[in-house]
Amino acid sequence: MTQTFSGNASFLNNGNDLIVVLGHGQLARMMYLGATQLGLNILAVNADTKECVNPVDKTRLNLTLEQAFDHCIAITSEFEHLPKDLVKQAEATGKFRPGAKAIAAGADRIVEKTLLEDLGIANCPHRIIRNTEDLANAYTELGPKLILKTSRDGYDGYGQWRIFSLDELQDICNELQEFDFDHMPLVAEQCVSFEREISLLGVTDSQGNHDYYPLTENHHGAGQLVLSLARAPNVNAALQQQAQDIHDKIAEALSYTGVLAIELFQMGDKLLVNEIAPRVHNSGHWTQQGCAASQFENHIRAIAGLPLGSTQPQHLVAMVNYVGEPKPSIEILALKNIHLHWYDKGVRAKRKMGHINLVADSEAELQALITKVHALLPESLQANLAKLKA
Ligand code: AMP
Repeated sequence: MTQTFSGNASFLNNGNDLIVVLGHGQLARMMYLGATQLGLNILAVNADTKECVNPVDKTRLNLTLEQAFDHCIAITSEFEHLPKDLVKQAEATGKFRPGAKAIAAGADRIVEKTLLEDLGIANCPHRIIRNTEDLANAYTELGPKLILKTSRDGYDGYGQWRIFSLDELQDICNELQEFDFDHMPLVAEQCVSFEREISLLGVTDSQGNHDYYPLTENHHGAGQLVLSLARAPNVNAALQQQAQDIHDKIAEALSYTGVLAIELFQMGDKLLVNEIAPRVHNSGHWTQQGCAASQFENHIRAIAGLPLGSTQPQHLVAMVNYVGEPKPSIEILALKNIHLHWYDKGVRAKRKMGHINLVADSEAELQALITKVHALLPESLQANLAKLKA
């Protein structure tokens, strides 16, 4: 039934084309941009207040979550750290994709590790930590370098401690004397020496068909993604296939529909899964200029039951995150083949403010562009981009 609500008619004037995104950050905004060209509407939900908001300007909409859930054709999310009751309510509609099981695997490292172990997928050697004695044992078994992570609510390097010596182990054990392990068990991972970090963005349509973007090389600063390079250089068919096989196993176990991101550590010709993200992902932002159908468009196509668009790369792209910095200068914007995606958020340290995609048709062209952009970037971002300079 078509129903209108004062001031928000465009969101509900055709009950068949509305998609609800749980979360109202930049990923919801970019999903909106990917959906609007398909003639679909996107409405975002502030996951804390449960208010429906416009995904672009974040203004509050005059309709309830229940009304939005009733009218939409699909519900998805831009973030896995969602309140449990909201996930439950979305799941109960039968329209939530990729669904509660996938969200749980992305939100809780213990659920994630259990899934990977059950599927026989290589990941970092680890132990679940429920008291300081577990931690001391993990250090003996997996040390001398451990990374301790909270099982939930950790992202972009938050909720992590490095334990690289017995002294550091002692300090952390002292710090954790009063820690509520029942509420928040920890995961201790062996700190592995990988050659590089890469990610696979795969997409599964509503019929269970999988498609994939080429592997992306990722660079981090302070635990946070700062750069992606796509296609990742030096990837042979076997490595791409290995990543796709991992993707298929996970997607099938989770009865997945939509984009699934898998963060990987490369060690020679072997891949270890670092973590999975049941959603569109920062390391897939390059697809906005690099491919015929971006990760955002394909996620929307998948959850709306539409055929997928092409994931074939059309250009080489270097994606630079603007972290804690204001909008790029006019000089940067004046460069041809630079594409700005700005999120319109207040500037704050460590906050992802936007990104630029540097687009080229050959490695030499990309290097020339990287050199030009490097010279014009603010200092903190210059240090990041230096990693890609030949
Ligand atoms: P995460 O939030 O788990 O993705 O961790 C953030 C970053 O920390 C990763 O992208 C890696 O650079 C690094 N890291 C995380 N876990 C490990 C590990 N077990 N060994 C080595 N580096 C790691």
